[in-house]
Amino acid sequence: MYRVLNAMKPQSAEMLQATIFMKKSSNPYLIQFAGLKNGEHKFDYVIDDAFFKDKEYSEIQHAKIFTLVTLTKSINLLVFDIKMEGIINVSCDRCGGLFNFPVWGERKLVVSQTNDRFEDGDDIISLSLDASEIDISQTLYEYVTLLLPQRRIHPAKEDGTEGCDADALKVLDKLTAKGEESKTDPRWDALKNIKKN
Ligand SMILES: [Zn+2]
Repeated sequence: MYRVLNAMKPQSAEMLQATIFMKKSSNPYLIQFAGLKNGEHKFDYVIDDAFFKDKEYSEIQHAKIFTLVTLTKSINLLVFDIKMEGIINVSCDRCGGLFNFPVWGERKLVVSQTNDRFEDGDDIISLSLDASEIDISQTLYEYVTLLLPQRRIHPAKEDGTEGCDADALKVLDKLTAKGEESKTDPRWDALKNIKKN
């Protein structure tokens, strides 16, 4: 039994390597639509930390977003309905603590295949008639960033109490108070004294 296992080992290691190689080289966000029939096609993704690994400039680095892409293909027209739901790890604008912000959203991307190129919009782009595939990863990335609101504050806890880190807020309060004290301009004080006289 031991010998058999040993004999199999190199082969399975090779197979493992091949699988890793395939996973690395195949981009799940590259949709080869030319080979698809007209009609609906569904693609499921979980956008997580790995998705942001090569996006060092991205504000978002930690997230888990379940994404369902429904592609409706017809002649020279691809319509992507993209539904997203999950969490994005952000820092609170008020206390600075990290928390998981719940997000969800839905968007539509229309891809028109035409040789009359037109200016791409936010949700409508053109592809040449001989194109056979489209990489939707950048579109998904943009949609993820749009899920976050401008202001991110800890939600209140289930019992209705403050969601922010109380200790951090205390420290911040002290800092702002100090900041305001030192903001007083001595010339202004002098002016006030003159007025008093
Ligand atoms: Zn907070």
